[in-house]
Amino acid sequence: MKHTSDLVIVGAGLSGLMVAWLCLDKNPDLTVTLIESSDKIAGDHTWSFNMNDILPDLQDWVKPVIAHQWDQYDVKFPKRERTLDITYCTGNSDTLRACVQPHIESGRLKVRLNTLAEKLSAYEVILEDGEKLTAACVLDARGFKANDDVFLGYQKFVGHVIKTKIPHGVERPIIMDATVDQLDGYRFVYCLPFSETELLVEDTYYADGPELEADSVESRISDYIGDRLKVDTYDVIRRETGVLPITLAVDPDYGTDVSGEKTEAVKLGMTGGYYHAVTGYSLPEAVKSANVVYDMIEQNKPDFSAALLHEMAYHRVDHYHEESFLRMLNRMMFRAAKPEKRYKVLERFYGLPEDLVERFYRNRISKADKLKVLIGKPPVSVSKAISNVSESAFIKRERAT
Ligand SMILES: Cc1cc2nc3c(=O)[nH]c(=O)nc-3n(C[C@H](O)[C@H](O)[C@H](O)COP(=O)(O)OP(=O)(O)OC[C@H]3O[C@@H](n4cnc5c(N)ncnc54)[C@H](O)[C@@H]3O)c2cc1C
Repeated sequence: MKHTSDLVIVGAGLSGLMVAWLCLDKNPDLTVTLIESSDKIAGDHTWSFNMNDILPDLQDWVKPVIAHQWDQYDVKFPKRERTLDITYCTGNSDTLRACVQPHIESGRLKVRLNTLAEKLSAYEVILEDGEKLTAACVLDARGFKANDDVFLGYQKFVGHVIKTKIPHGVERPIIMDATVDQLDGYRFVYCLPFSETELLVEDTYYADGPELEADSVESRISDYIGDRLKVDTYDVIRRETGVLPITLAVDPDYGTDVSGEKTEAVKLGMTGGYYHAVTGYSLPEAVKSANVVYDMIEQNKPDFSAALLHEMAYHRVDHYHEESFLRMLNRMMFRAAKPEKRYKVLERFYGLPEDLVERFYRNRISKADKLKVLIGKPPVSVSKAISNVSESAFIKRERAT
C-alpha cells in the first residue's frame, strides 16, 4: 500500500519541526507530512538554550534557528552575583519556520494546517473528519499533557518584550535575578537583551501549583523595569505566558516497556517527557530525538519502521534514567526546602565550578559532580531531604494523599 508519506508527524511545534527539518535536510529521498491543528506552523514562541546542550555534531546544523547569541550570562542572588562564560542562544518561531521552508517549497514536506488529528497509532492517523493517513512511522508531537504517572511542580512565568526609547543598559542575559521578593515559591526575573533597545523581561516562579495571577505578575514586571533597570519610557511589543512542568517523579512503569510489538505512535517533545526536568526546557532534547529518528531511518532504510519504533522506546527509557538525579533534586527543592527559602538551593548551586554548571544543564553530570551538588550544609530540612530521596516512596506517598 502506498503511504501518505514516509513519516506523518502530528504537531508542527518545536519537536515535530526539528525532526522534519533534520530528516529532510539529511535524507534527500524522505517525505514528511505534518498535521497541525492551528493555523500556522511553529506557533509564536522563543526557545532559549545553552549551545553546549546541543549534541556537538549538530551545533553547526542548528545555527540557522538561532536569532540571538551571547557569550556570557549573569545570575544574581542575595549573597552571590556571577557571570558565567557559557554561550546562550535564543531561537524563535520565525527562524524555525525559515529552516523548514525550503522543504515545503520542494514538496517533500507537506503541511496540513487547521487539521485536528483524533486517533494516532504507529502507522496510522485518523483526522477529525474521518480521513485516514498512513506512514512507515507516525510521530506524536502534540505538546505537553499531564498524566497520573508523572508528578509535577511548575515553572510559570509572564514575559514582556519591551522596546525602549534609549538603550536599556542590559548587556547580556540575566538568567536568574533572585534578589527580588520571594513569592509563591522560588521567584526570579529573567532578562534577554535582544538589542540595545529591545529586552525580554520575564517574572518567573518555581511553584507548587500552575495558577498564575497574570495582573499581579504584570505589575511586578513593570516595577522591576522601573526600579531595577531604571527604564521608564518603553512600549510592550510582545507578551508571553508559560507554565512548564518540573518533574518530581515518574512512575517507572510509565512508557518504559521496550518489549513486544510497538503499536503506539512514537512520542516526541514534551508529550514524550523529553525536557530537562529542572528547567522544563526542551529544545536540546528535541534535537537529540530528531537525531535518533534520522539515524534509525538512515541505518535501516528502506524498511525502517520496526527499528525506529524500537529504538525510540529505548530512547525514552534512557531519558527516564538520565533524569533520575534531576528529579531527586526537584523533590529536594519542592518538598524539603520551605517555599521562601527555595532560592538558596540555586544560590548554592551557582557557587559550583562553571564546567559542572554547564554539564548540569546538558544533563551529563558525573558521579563526582553529583557529590559536589549534594555535599555541604544543605539549605533544606535534612529529615525532609532524606524522606524525599526515594522516588518510589515519594510516589507511594503522593498517591496516598
Ligand atoms: C511560553 C513558553 C516559553 C518556553 N520557553 C522555552 C525556552 O526558552 N527553551 C526551551 O527549550 N523550552 C521552552 N519552552 C518549553 C518547550 O520547549 C516548548 O513548550 C516547546 O514548544 C515544546 O515543544 P513540543 O513540540 O513538545 O510542543 P509544541 O511546540 O507546543 O507543539 C505542539 C503542537 O501540536 C499541535 N497539536 C496539538 N494537538 C494536536 C492535534 N490533535 N492535532 C494536530 N495538531 C495538534 C499544537 O497546535 C502545537 O503546534 C517554553 C514553553 C512555553 C509555553
